[in-house]
Amino acid sequence: MARVLLVDDSASARALLGVRLREKAYEVVEVPTAAEAAELAIDKQPDAVVTDLWMPGISGLQLCRLLRAEPATARVPVVLLTASDDRRSRFWARHAGATAYVTKTEIDRLIDVLGDLTSSPKTRPPPAMTPPVVTRGNVQERLSQLLDASLFESTIAGEVRALAQKAEELEQLFEGLVALASEVAGYRWLALVTEPAEGQHGTRLFIHTHPEQREAAEREARDALDVQHPLERRKPAEADAVIIADKRSVEAEWSTPPILLPVRFGTTSIGRIAISPSRRGASHDDRRFIALLSNELGGPLRMASLVAEARRLASTDTLTGLLNRRAFVERIEKARAASDSRLFPMSMLLLDVDHFKKVNDTLGHDAGDAVLQGVARVLSSIARKSDFVARWGGEEFVVALAQTAEAGARVAAERVRRALAEARYVLPNGTEHRATASVGLASADGPDWQIDDLLGRADKAMYSAKHRGRNRVETA
Ligand code: GH3
Ligand code: MG
Ligand code: MG
Repeated sequence: MARVLLVDDSASARALLGVRLREKAYEVVEVPTAAEAAELAIDKQPDAVVTDLWMPGISGLQLCRLLRAEPATARVPVVLLTASDDRRSRFWARHAGATAYVTKTEIDRLIDVLGDLTSSPKTRPPPAMTPPVVTRGNVQERLSQLLDASLFESTIAGEVRALAQKAEELEQLFEGLVALASEVAGYRWLALVTEPAEGQHGTRLFIHTHPEQREAAEREARDALDVQHPLERRKPAEADAVIIADKRSVEAEWSTPPILLPVRFGTTSIGRIAISPSRRGASHDDRRFIALLSNELGGPLRMASLVAEARRLASTDTLTGLLNRRAFVERIEKARAASDSRLFPMSMLLLDVDHFKKVNDTLGHDAGDAVLQGVARVLSSIARKSDFVARWGGEEFVVALAQTAEAGARVAAERVRRALAEARYVLPNGTEHRATASVGLASADGPDWQIDDLLGRADKAMYSAKHRGRNRVETA
């Protein structure tokens, strides 16, 4: 005989329902409060709990949450009863984990629902390994704990989601994440690896750790996340690590295995997060916390990647992957606004591929494109980190040499010219092509230079290089 625990503060309602259920051969135990119901349910594990929604003190919804959180009753079906059928209660009942929601006037429906719930083959939970958290007399306390825990989790979830609004770059997103994580949990290191979207740029690895264990943390994080060092070139998943080393995390020599969880957007895996627990090991709360991060991070991570990708596309020349003209000017102006001193003396090289039209005309446009891509590769490989290289348009390229006066720039320009002339440009048909370029150079010693002015002078110098026979450098 199926056992039903019936909870209602109204004696008449209990009596009425009790009679009907007993008629249907249920063994019914009636209690007037949710607190008694909770203790009894955990103790005796009925086949179903039927509870009034609104009761003084602890409500049916709270009872439902409590039973769901208890290992012993996590799978006991709970049917919520209410006088009126309002949508909001129904929604909330579902979120509290109620199995069904029936209005009090629909006793026949309740009987149908109970029939379904108790006739299915018994899926009794295995005997609970952990002792019940609820013990006699502490139901109210346990409820406050549960409420507090879920409020805490919603707050963390909200904070993680809010990162999407604050972070436009992955670096920023990770900074926000570790600011939150180190406030809440202790760890030796926390690492995030992002997987490239289809056809997009590569894996990125971010690590947060204490300055003194930078190297150990990077080694361990790479191991845990299976991301090889770029210098080892063993797998495609190699990445330069962005390491934030500060003193917010706990430093310890201890090594407990890291916790590793996927970050998903929809059904697609877009990254993985790993945390190395601190000396005392990962607590239950730490595990809950990292699970929460892994659950909530997908949206913000995807958003930041999309924004970064959109920005990259908007500033990149699609054929060569170099900066486009607009981004070139923007980056230089931005660098100049940030710190004048690092940009002067400034020199600019303007390059124009010689007789390029002939490549198109005789070998085809695809061959022309391949030469332009080759030129871009040569320029990128020669440029220093502080230089700005861009495709100015057509077969013209520009290189801004920061902190380079005219004498040094002449050497650099000559090196560029020679490298371009010596390179073999592999065409789509597999043959190799040779090309040269004419280079115009203009320099400014002080901080008061204008991009337009420098480029105008470099352009004139480039034209005089053309007139003087091409494949040469001329200085403005
Ligand atoms: P010079 O030595 O005087 O610079 O001669 P040139 O043939 O290089 O000069 P011109 O400016 O007459 O020719 C440039 C050509 O570059 C014309 C244009 O069709 C071609 N071009 C511009 N952009 C592209 C591109 O993206 N791909 C290809 N394949 N060709 C391009
Ligand atoms: Mg041209
Ligand atoms: Mg040309």
